[in-house]
Amino acid sequence: MSKKTEGHCPFCGAEEYEVRHTDYLYSHDGDYLLVPNTPVQVCTQCGMIFYEAAVLKEIERRFFAIKQNREKPDHYIQMPSANFA
Ligand SMILES: [Zn+2]
Repeated sequence: MSKKTEGHCPFCGAEEYEVRHTDYLYSHDGDYLLVPNTPVQVCTQCGMIFYEAAVLKEIERRFFAIKQNREKPDHYIQMPSANFA
């Protein structure tokens, strides 16, 4: 289930992307927002992954809206964390 879209890979110059969906973890000042099902563009030639500016902007908007209690997240997850040093 993928559709091809027009684009231009700055890495290899290919003109074909494939749209896929992935989990995107946005982080800002030690706070995180996990965004499942984020659309990404994958270069069919070299495999580089690109995020559309509009997509990143919307994720950022939601992050701050949730942080400022203007919007509610779908749910919270708990993440284990361990410092390396
Ligand atoms: Zn490429």
